[in-house]
Amino acid sequence: MNPDIYLSSPHLGELELRYVQEAFATNWIAPLGPHVDAFEQEICAATGVGHAAALSSGTAALHLALVLLGVGPGDEVLCQSFTFAASANPIRYQGAQPIYVDSEMTTWNMCPDALETALQDRIRKGKRPKAVIAVNLYGMPARFDAILAICQRYEVPLIEDAAESFGSTYKNVPTGRFGTVAVLSFNGNKIITTSGGGALLSEDDKLIAKARFLATQARDPAPHYQHSSVGYNYRMSNVCAGIGRGQLAVLATRVAQRRANFNYYVQELSQLPGLNFQPEPADCFSNRWLTCITIDPALSDGLTREAIRLALAEQRIEARPLWKPMHRQPVFAGSPYYGSGIADQLFENGLCLPSGSNLTQEQRDKVVSCIRKTAAAFSKR
Ligand SMILES: *Cc1c(COP(=O)(O)O)cnc(C)c1O
Repeated sequence: MNPDIYLSSPHLGELELRYVQEAFATNWIAPLGPHVDAFEQEICAATGVGHAAALSSGTAALHLALVLLGVGPGDEVLCQSFTFAASANPIRYQGAQPIYVDSEMTTWNMCPDALETALQDRIRKGKRPKAVIAVNLYGMPARFDAILAICQRYEVPLIEDAAESFGSTYKNVPTGRFGTVAVLSFNGNKIITTSGGGALLSEDDKLIAKARFLATQARDPAPHYQHSSVGYNYRMSNVCAGIGRGQLAVLATRVAQRRANFNYYVQELSQLPGLNFQPEPADCFSNRWLTCITIDPALSDGLTREAIRLALAEQRIEARPLWKPMHRQPVFAGSPYYGSGIADQLFENGLCLPSGSNLTQEQRDKVVSCIRKTAAAFSKR
């Protein structure tokens, strides 16, 4: 049975259909076309980044990022463990070894201390990692000052996985600008969507030119089809880019709507014993893609995140545990991990609440009242 209230559903504005109609009317359906060029420029304007390539998905963008940084078989790549599998899978596409790094409580993102320990240990064991993948989870920027300083000290390039954080800033600088390359996602559940899509961002125009080349089957300049490297079919279509342009026009509104969800949940739920929200340090401005709570079992009278999730599910309200860490995933069994169990603890105790920018007040109230009732049932025990 489908839920009545979704975790994060697409939310269309008024321009998307006009742009798509324009694509049809001009017969620029695919591949590429004027919407793709315009969408790339608009992404650059929105983030302040120099260059962007619109691609078929965020996963494709991460894969190309690794290819561009020369990651190959047997190489090691450091990756935040507390994330969605798409951050890590492309490491395996390249035949490389993921090395997982724990999170910190202040942002829930990559812990700079664990990162440095991991780098020192891998280098001591004889291999300098080829890249670091840091993620802005649920929209919250990672602590880039510390992370970038470490990456520079050990001369390892940073890939910023900003798939969940379009519209967020760190020290007033938009996310998507902190890595040698950065990745955005426009999947259907993200803060804005192209139905499916992603982008690769960089200050380095040569890297982005190479990404476009690789993403269109790596055709050498020749009248016939000539190839000297392995290519991919990773470009965004002109129709999808038309949807993206309409969505980008309302990004600031979507951020405000998601933050309003968060603020409402805080107002209505933060007094419940043991219930906490993902923190937002003073340097960070999160798009609050998803509102995330944790339940401290020592303070909650036995209330657990699973009890809340099941109570919501019974009301046909979709909620989901926080990401299960990659170092706990069967597919990555045996991959090295550096940390002290912060990501595990967040997974055990954390839950994402319905967070769509199109939630109605009635729907938010239904979520709040269900959580309050569940908590009350426990406190009476
Ligand atoms: C969604 C997501 C991706 C992948 O993006 P797709 O466009 O779905 O391929 C990568 N990393 C994170 C953290 C994500 O949330």
